[in-house]
Amino acid sequence: MSATKILGLVRFRNLRTRLTVVYMGLFGLALLLAAIAVVTAVTNSAQRVVRDEMTAAGAVYSQLWTARSSQLQQGAGVLAQDYGFREAVATNDEATVRSALDNLRARQGVDGALILGVDGYATTTGLALDDAALDRLFTGLESGQIESGVLAIDGQAYQVVAAPVNAPVLIGWVVFAERLDAAQMRNLEQLSAIPLSAAVVLNRVSAPTGDGPITVRTPDGPSMRLDRPLPSFDKAAPADLVLTYPLKRAMRPYEALFWWLAAIGVAGLALLMGGTWALSRGLTRPISALDEAVHRLQQGDYVEAPVTSADEIGRLAASFNAMVGDLRDREARLTHMALHDQETGLPNRLSLERQAAAQADAWVVLFGVDRFEVVRNAIGYDSMARLLAALGGRLSALADGAPMARVGAGALGLVIVAADEAEAVGIATRLAEAAQAPLMINGAPVDIALTAGVAGRGAASSDLASPVDRAAIAVDQARAARRMVAAFDEAAYGDPGDNLSLISELMTALRDGDVTLAYQPKYDFRAERITGVEALMRWSHPRRGFVPPDLFIGMAEETGHIRPLTEWAIRRAIADQKTMAAAGHVLTVSVNISGRLLSDESFADFALAEVAASAADLCFEITETAVMDNPELALHIIARFAEAGIAVSLDDYGAGLSSLTYLKQIRADELKIDKSFILGLDQSSRDALLVKSTIDLAHSLGLKVTAEGVETPTALALLRGMGCDMAQGYLIGRPVALALLTEQLAAPVVELDLARQA
Ligand code: C2E
Ligand code: CA
Ligand code: CA
Repeated sequence: MSATKILGLVRFRNLRTRLTVVYMGLFGLALLLAAIAVVTAVTNSAQRVVRDEMTAAGAVYSQLWTARSSQLQQGAGVLAQDYGFREAVATNDEATVRSALDNLRARQGVDGALILGVDGYATTTGLALDDAALDRLFTGLESGQIESGVLAIDGQAYQVVAAPVNAPVLIGWVVFAERLDAAQMRNLEQLSAIPLSAAVVLNRVSAPTGDGPITVRTPDGPSMRLDRPLPSFDKAAPADLVLTYPLKRAMRPYEALFWWLAAIGVAGLALLMGGTWALSRGLTRPISALDEAVHRLQQGDYVEAPVTSADEIGRLAASFNAMVGDLRDREARLTHMALHDQETGLPNRLSLERQAAAQADAWVVLFGVDRFEVVRNAIGYDSMARLLAALGGRLSALADGAPMARVGAGALGLVIVAADEAEAVGIATRLAEAAQAPLMINGAPVDIALTAGVAGRGAASSDLASPVDRAAIAVDQARAARRMVAAFDEAAYGDPGDNLSLISELMTALRDGDVTLAYQPKYDFRAERITGVEALMRWSHPRRGFVPPDLFIGMAEETGHIRPLTEWAIRRAIADQKTMAAAGHVLTVSVNISGRLLSDESFADFALAEVAASAADLCFEITETAVMDNPELALHIIARFAEAGIAVSLDDYGAGLSSLTYLKQIRADELKIDKSFILGLDQSSRDALLVKSTIDLAHSLGLKVTAEGVETPTALALLRGMGCDMAQGYLIGRPVALALLTEQLAAPVVELDLARQA
């Protein structure tokens, strides 16, 4: 197993502990290896000293042995050649022999002396020779193989030396015996520089070691031992000089050194532990701080990690901080985007709804820029965005910094605080009036008119839960009522569920003849007479009475029932045109065609077939009530109408979704300026300017212009002055049933009046 694997097994939650333990382990290991090396070197050198010393001691002993042997042998030889002594031996004069032996023993300083006859008889002094020893001695001497060696007497080793006594033939041996006792061994031990222990061992158990000592195990631990064989009188039991020296003793001088080494090791280890702990603290503290910062980042908390150094960790922390900064910026941008309108940079609807939800007595006031599309077409998209931004700022400032937002193309919202609806409407009126002053855009003043809708927070029906939605409806309601400010009127808005049943009732009404067409005259300025009529649908509901076409037409469009209604209207209009012609009134009849039907080619087939069959002179007023899903198809269908000789009129210009881009592409004959511009024509110079520029624009595109909603002679005169082609409105005639229209047309008063006024 590799070191990394082993370290891997030890799991630490804490980097610092891990670093400390790993360093300690490595240092400890290095220390251990060094210690082993030192101890081995010291031990080896100590052993070498001991070995040399023992080898020397063994050699010295051998020399001593030999020297003593020859010394004793000399003494024995002198006695053996002494004539008197030989005679005493030969004559068995024991007293003389014994006295001579004693004499010599004392002189030589040996323990025992004896004379051993060839007959095996011994005269002994100084020691008691047992039979077994005598036997071994005799056997050894008689065989002539040994004259000096170790002899065991009573289990005790003796150095024994013999000299033959010849008279002249061998009659015996003079023998000296010296005990190889502890005192003798002590002398030997003292010869050595090291305190080894020496002993002569009989009946050796292990083979002699030769000249060099070996290491053996003893109860005292490992020891050095040298076995040197000594000549022995007993072949069966050889004798050895055994020198031993416990290694423990050899190591004793180094013990202090070892203790010092151990102490230094422990101190080093402790120092290292402290140092590593402190160092790793310095290392791991920034990592821990970074770890903590990452952890908090996961919980969405954008904290920065402290940058404490210029090294990798410091750079890592700096990068982390940069990343956190980026994330924070990005999130701020996203939040900003989610809550702001891209075009104007103003807060958006979501932001306003949040503000409204945050306050208990909050009211939402929505300011609709009147005739938004027309103004935008006149000044351009960029300037319009700037205008809205400036208007938002102005509104917010007027309302003491109340939360403000852009909530629709031409709608800005405010959240105000008011005790009740009356107060809210009062504030809204004051604000709308104050905000209407012209705004400077690109150095030129731009007039704006505002209509405001007010709605409170109170829960309305579920699909109108947002006060912003209700305020938007209130804007429509205000415009319909021709008021500047209105509060949301839920009753007037009606119940969407109730309205749904209207659709099925409408289809029944169509069958039952409850739906009729009313006709409103169109006055031609150049011809100075009525040249056409617009067919407008009327439904008198048996229970509800008059149902406004804006309501049921819109619903029929939404629910996909507009086609049968329109087909019916075309047939009816064609039939009524014939009736009118028969009465002497040749008039172009305008039929309203919902923009939705312009994505239905089979409807176009129907309409063209009807027109072709009847040779009717029709005008189709295209009401752009909804965004056309397929503009290309719509343009194609309009072109088919134009080719079939049907005049095409673009209805409600300025109120719907009309845009200049469209105008250029559509093969239209007529542009109908929405009545909202015409109604205020005689009061507002701004409207006059817009109408004039629209007329000029339409003419430059080759379109005739009809103004609808002409209620006053002043408006009529103004329009004539602007070069408008046709006029339609209550001044000229209200939408009336066919019979009444024929009656009115028969009376020349209308035409005369108009001609005169103009
Ligand atoms: P529109 O096509 O713009 O029709 C003109 C509307 O202005 C008519 O409202 C008319 O009564 C009204 N009006 C005419 N002169 C004046 C005036 O001097 N002052 C004022 N204040 N109003 C005037 P009406 O009849 O309520 O029709 C509303 C809308 O319903 C029409 O607007 C048209 O979009 C739609 N509509 C009516 N009949 C049909 C139809 O047969 N087919 C389709 N698709 N839409 C229809
Ligand atoms: Ca119309
Ligand atoms: Ca219209």
